[in-house]
Amino acid sequence: MMLKSHRNFHSVNGKRQILVVDDEAVNRELLGLMLSEDYDILYAEDGRQALELIRANAATLSLVLLDILMPELNGLELLTLLKQDPELAHLPVIVLTSEKSAEVRSLRLGASDFITKPYDLPEVIQARVRRTIELSEDTYIIQTTEHDELTGLYNKEYFYRYAEQFDRYHAAMAMDAVTLDINHFHLFNELYGRSFADEMLKTIADALRRALEGTGGIACRREADTFLLYAPHREEYDTMLAAILTALGEGGHRPRLRLGVYPCADKGIDIELRFDRAKLAGDTVRNNYARSIAYYDDSLHEKELYSEKLIAGMDQALRERQFQVYYQPKYDIRGERPVLRSAEALVRWNHPLFGRISPGRFIPLFEENGLIQKLDLYVWQEAARQVRRWREEYGTVIPVSVNVSRIDMHNPELLSIFRELMRSNQLSPGDYLLEITESAYAEDSERIIRTVEDLRALGFQVEMDDFGSGYSSLNMLSSLPIDALKLGIKFLQDLPSDPKSVRMLELMLDIARYLSVPVIAEGVEREDQLALLKRLGCDMIQGYYFSRPVPPEEFARFIEKEVSSC
Ligand code: C2E
Ligand code: MG
Ligand code: MG
Repeated sequence: MMLKSHRNFHSVNGKRQILVVDDEAVNRELLGLMLSEDYDILYAEDGRQALELIRANAATLSLVLLDILMPELNGLELLTLLKQDPELAHLPVIVLTSEKSAEVRSLRLGASDFITKPYDLPEVIQARVRRTIELSEDTYIIQTTEHDELTGLYNKEYFYRYAEQFDRYHAAMAMDAVTLDINHFHLFNELYGRSFADEMLKTIADALRRALEGTGGIACRREADTFLLYAPHREEYDTMLAAILTALGEGGHRPRLRLGVYPCADKGIDIELRFDRAKLAGDTVRNNYARSIAYYDDSLHEKELYSEKLIAGMDQALRERQFQVYYQPKYDIRGERPVLRSAEALVRWNHPLFGRISPGRFIPLFEENGLIQKLDLYVWQEAARQVRRWREEYGTVIPVSVNVSRIDMHNPELLSIFRELMRSNQLSPGDYLLEITESAYAEDSERIIRTVEDLRALGFQVEMDDFGSGYSSLNMLSSLPIDALKLGIKFLQDLPSDPKSVRMLELMLDIARYLSVPVIAEGVEREDQLALLKRLGCDMIQGYYFSRPVPPEEFARFIEKEVSSC
């Protein structure tokens, strides 16, 4: 199957390119006559010129026909050079010679075949040329092909290479880069089992193959549930999507798919980036039940440029202290009067061009490329200094919690960073809390758990942030080393009017009780929410009800109030 589609690709409209190297014009002409109908031919008169042409056309050349006896650089010397160059070594060379002795030598040097002068019948030469090219391309493909075992589609490395090669031969053809994702694929895995999910993937792969048949387009599976298509431009994708859904059959077990299309993708940019753009578009309808297909367009391009600017501006922003750490109080509500227990450090970016940017905009971006580690280090330092300053000023410690991104959890230096922060600010680990999101645990649980255990062994308390947004099972939760649960804002949104939300909240608090850890509710804005949480046994509250996140100077008044009421 693989070789068939490979031929198919080359025969769409391109002629393969070959280079004829001979110092005698007659020989060049003769070969030209025999081969120009089937091939695009370049000519060189000596070895040096040939080398230049080969280097310039390395991406498209399929074969070199090489004379041995030539001035300047002779054929055997050139052959030796080619075979030593890793970029060019794969290029097959047929040697043109009248000497028997040169045949053996050239084969030893890596020539694929030889043609003796005077030339045989044109058909013989044509057949030798064709066979050599086929053999070399097949070898190349066999060496490099790896299929996705489950679906039989290409794997992504091969797919990208194939797409690039396709572009070389069809530079003028408008191509679409398309991603297909399955919404909540992992749930299908969990709910219906692996083999069910595997069948689903196979069905989608088959449907894609059918949709691409005869178009010259190709498909691969990039990750578990992401497929890529590179295909000649089409006006709409509804038909394709409908065909895939039909193949998946009716019923409740049918997944929702989303397609991201980058139409007439810019061939001037990296092939992988073209698919990143398609995916960017696709992800905009991730939670949209009315639409399943989205196109990469100017507005997304704007967004992308904006993101790029944020990324490019990060170092300067750190140097110029454009990032500012705000603090939001956390109150203990168990007693008569709410008591200030700690504060959460939340970063803000005062951008010289874009104004105040919320972390929801740039944190995910920095998590994607690892920049978050630098920013977090900065925030952690600021927060540690702040705790020290308040202690010096008010003689009391207001512990501060900092957000630790899932990316930070993979930093082998993490423990020593925190140790050093405590040492240089003369703090004890009890003065400093760490918030790690629930979803971080889901990613590489064992490793994360080990790191969290190490941090706790140093004396740090670890709060699980955004609890309830991940998919931790109760079983897993009970084995997690945590000191508190922070309930995500979305649990609070419909409180207390919606009975379902209240029930959900009770469930969360039950889980916390079962784990014997205190609960901090985030996003509390109103009195009635506070009253309900208090009644249900929630321990701490953080939210606009008490205060928005504020700069440290402003936060001081909460401390002053607390100190004076003691
Ligand atoms: P988070 O850690 O869960 O922080 C709580 C978010 O809820 C904050 O949003 C806070 O301003 C907001 N919030 C607090 N009370 C209320 C309320 O009553 N109503 C509403 N509507 N919102 C409330 P913010 O500051 O925009 O931060 C968003 C997220 O960005 C944070 O969620 C955290 O995951 C991340 N983040 C912020 N600063 C940092 C940081 O320095 N490092 C890292 N890695 N992540 C950070
Ligand atoms: Mg947090
Ligand atoms: Mg949170």
